[in-house]
Amino acid sequence: MLLPSWAREYIYPLRIPTPFAVGDVFSYLIKDEKNVLIDCGYYSKKAEEDLDKLLKEEGLILADLDEIWLTHGHPDHFGQAAHLGNLSGAVIYGHPKEQDNFGGGDNQELFRTFFEEHQIPKTFVNQMIEQLDWLQQFSEPLRPKPIQEGEELSSGSLSVVVKHTPGHAPGHVVFDTQKGLIFGGDLLLEHISTNALINFDPDTEQRNKSLLQYRNSLKWISGQKGVVLPGHGNLIKDIGGVANHHLTEHENRYQKIQMLLEKRPMRLMEIAQRLFAEAIEKGATFLVLSEVMGYLDWGIQEGTMTSEVTSNGIIFKMP
Ligand SMILES: [Zn+2]
Ligand SMILES: [Zn+2]
Repeated sequence: MLLPSWAREYIYPLRIPTPFAVGDVFSYLIKDEKNVLIDCGYYSKKAEEDLDKLLKEEGLILADLDEIWLTHGHPDHFGQAAHLGNLSGAVIYGHPKEQDNFGGGDNQELFRTFFEEHQIPKTFVNQMIEQLDWLQQFSEPLRPKPIQEGEELSSGSLSVVVKHTPGHAPGHVVFDTQKGLIFGGDLLLEHISTNALINFDPDTEQRNKSLLQYRNSLKWISGQKGVVLPGHGNLIKDIGGVANHHLTEHENRYQKIQMLLEKRPMRLMEIAQRLFAEAIEKGATFLVLSEVMGYLDWGIQEGTMTSEVTSNGIIFKMP
């Protein structure tokens, strides 16, 4: 990962392996007047040892951390933040819309209601709940200091502006140095398309139209100049190109679902099985349902699709 020359003096990408399908996660050390970590890896002895080793290569120990700035509340990015905070006294920042992901709320009931409304078969619901339970072990609950859109954080000589970029997660943020360098979390990845996951607004408990939010966030970043330091994969130089690639991919899938509904009305799970049977077979049901729900939200917003509550669950159809 080759950083712009001005940044090489004090920004260090730390690559932490994870047990998740996404692979390694990047944490970024800013070694300045303060020692800051942007994201920090999941909660486990292994990730702590990995981070400890990476910090030592830069002449630091875990106790030297002053602040941790979190892009969002997925375990690979924030899981060991509370633990690191205990070890070092570091002040931890994150967006308040992420409170359910950070462990401050409980939205299992909201998910259950959603699955029921769509009549998702029990075997799949149980599988998804099991996966969520498995994930719990990789994070410790956390109440970070809240940061808001437009707020500035500083490590000393480097400042970043917080940009709220919801979609992948309701309180996802990126940190913009406004010097052509953006710490992007999972907003923009080169090698994989980021999922706009089914999620709920912690204040209203309403389900977010996460794909529509995510597309707005992508459109914002597509117009930014410079490079993105992502949470996974290569540093991104062609920001507009990568963002537009993902936007176009969404548009193609959106059309596929429209074509499917032209034949006959269908429920969420039916569409999911028609288009992504293989992924469901591999256990990625939650990702698939999130994806399909995103296109259905989009169609309903544009008026190309409608939904109807029936005794057999919600069905989607052409208007
Ligand atoms: Zn994520
Ligand atoms: Zn991630």
